[in-house]
Order: sequence, then structure tokens, then C-alpha cells
Amino acid sequence: MIEQRRKRVRLATTSCPQCSEIGGLKKIIFGMPSADFDHERFIAGECLVSEVNPEVGCVKCGWEGSLK
Ligand SMILES: [Zn+2]
Repeated sequence: MIEQRRKRVRLATTSCPQCSEIGGLKKIIFGMPSADFDHERFIAGECLVSEVNPEVGCVKCGWEGSLK
């Protein structure tokens, strides 16, 4: 039985690991944001590629990282 077991974190209902605010987390998209980039749903990563690419960020406190 094949089941999709990909992590589907509902960011809208997940609290930030740092400030515990719910609703501040957004998925970070790296690369050049297109003209229709959805800033309501995503954070532009601006090509800042570090050793650990953060997957999500918090717009409330500025935290960036990966949810585990
Ligand atoms: Zn936060």
C-alpha cells in the first residue's frame, strides 16, 4: 500500500519554535521571485544560500529554520 508520507505541515496552524506565534510561519522560496510571487503565503529567500537552507521562516520574529 503506497501512502504519501511526505511531511505536510500546516504552517497556518503551526506555532513558531522561537516566538510561539501561530500564523507567522511561511515557506521560504529561494531564487528570484516572479512577478506573481505570493508574498501572502511565502517568504522570498533572496538567493542567500547557507550551509543549512531554512525551509520556513517566521514573519513575526524573523526566525528561519526547518521544522522537525
Ligand atoms: Zn516567530
